[in-house]
Amino acid sequence: MKIAILGGGISGTALAHMLAKDGHRVTVLEASSRPGGLCKSRRYGEFTFDEAGGHILFSKDKQALQWEIDRCGGEAGTVRVQRNTKIRWHDRFVPYPFENGVGHLTPDAILDCMKGYIEALVERRVGKPCPQTFRDWIDWRMGEGFARHFMVPYNEKIWKCDLRSMASSWVAGRVPEAPIEDVLRAALGQTTEGYTHQSVFWFPKHGGFETVVKGTVEGGGFDVQCGVRVKDVRKVGSKFTVDGESFDLVVNTAPLPLIERAIADIPDAIRADIRALVPISLINVMIGVKLDEPLPPLSWIYLPFADQGPTNRVTYYSNYSPHNAPQGHGSFLAEVTYRGHLVPDKAWMDNVLDGLQRAGILRRDKVVLAEWCDNTFAYIDQDHEFANRVGRVRKWFDESGYITFGRFGRYEYHNSDQCVGRAMEVHAHVREIAKSGAPARPTWR
Ligand SMILES: Cc1cc2nc3c(=O)[nH]c(=O)nc-3n(C[C@H](O)[C@H](O)[C@H](O)COP(=O)(O)OP(=O)(O)OC[C@H]3O[C@@H](n4cnc5c(N)ncnc54)[C@H](O)[C@@H]3O)c2cc1C
Repeated sequence: MKIAILGGGISGTALAHMLAKDGHRVTVLEASSRPGGLCKSRRYGEFTFDEAGGHILFSKDKQALQWEIDRCGGEAGTVRVQRNTKIRWHDRFVPYPFENGVGHLTPDAILDCMKGYIEALVERRVGKPCPQTFRDWIDWRMGEGFARHFMVPYNEKIWKCDLRSMASSWVAGRVPEAPIEDVLRAALGQTTEGYTHQSVFWFPKHGGFETVVKGTVEGGGFDVQCGVRVKDVRKVGSKFTVDGESFDLVVNTAPLPLIERAIADIPDAIRADIRALVPISLINVMIGVKLDEPLPPLSWIYLPFADQGPTNRVTYYSNYSPHNAPQGHGSFLAEVTYRGHLVPDKAWMDNVLDGLQRAGILRRDKVVLAEWCDNTFAYIDQDHEFANRVGRVRKWFDESGYITFGRFGRYEYHNSDQCVGRAMEVHAHVREIAKSGAPARPTWR
């Protein structure tokens, strides 16, 4: 078949790679000057940075993880890193997840957290139902102490909203419950580890996270046209046209609010739903520093408090690969989320760097480079209407003969490994279409 894929992030290029291997003629149309989307990286002198904040290669899906590692040249092309993540909690660094680090808090805070955790556990055991709002879910699941000392300030910082306006459903299945024994042990000062599927991760040795996409495109056997902002897509009989050219199949992976105007067949009610899918945006500050001694062996840290500046997470990026920064230097990525409009100026940048200095992460007099990158589509707003709205949008696409997937192409909270896993499912679906010669409803959900 002759297939057009809209959007050249990891979703679009991974699918193109798989379809081209089957002998289909595949064209990826990408608005930006090069493929990569949220996985792009950039260079400043000898520094390499990821554009959309700290990215790592890890997955519960071994096949997808291996696929991504292979695109980077396998074990030889990647660095295997032991995850070491912390929360900067006032004057100290507390191991993450917070429940596993509770023993590192002050005695009063440990008491608050454990009292609330046990009360919440008892209430759940006697049948207190899962609440509707994310704010109430935090109390229901973690208890009042964990809520006050970390969960609420951190989540307000990242989501930039009243947590009662967010549905609890989005956390279901995303946040594993720490066993009570582990939390009690942690409170007693014993070491316990949460999120074990993330305890080791991989990172491309050279070129930043974008290497995953470069390795997908190079030798992939498909055509990538960059600088093409698709303007007109429509069904014509059993085929499609994209900016006047005929294709047997169109797969969208571009953010729906950016592509909706181009797709002629979308009904008005679905357009209204798509326009209401508001993104949460991210300014990623890329920082290079001169080092007198190596950076502490941290992967990333969370900054829940206002006096730490607007940053919610800092990646110790030069710890991911020695090639990310020149000799004698280190680098960080500081992530700052926002809603609506934000253009950083000098005062804003000073606020970010001062906050990081106050949090004991860097010294301003050692900073040799500070640049920023804006990512309009970074996180998904999980308001109470989101599930219904996105359900209607997905249903329309699935019944229309178009295929749409990707982080913002289907509004699934996916990391790159899940985008690759989804591309594998779409690939199998397209094989069925090629075999039967007729469009079919996706079998994946
Ligand atoms: C802060 C942050 C941290 C993350 N950390 C990790 C991590 O540690 N590990 C991990 O695996 N994943 C991580 N992710 C998720 C990962 O970045 C995404 O899952 C993945 O990059 C999404 O790829 P995609 O192809 O679906 O979408 P995108 O990368 O958004 O690609 C969509 C493409 O469509 C293009 N486009 C837009 N409009 C048009 C148009 N009109 N015509 C043609 N093209 C168009 C865009 O330019 C873009 O290239 C993180 C994301 C964020 C925001």
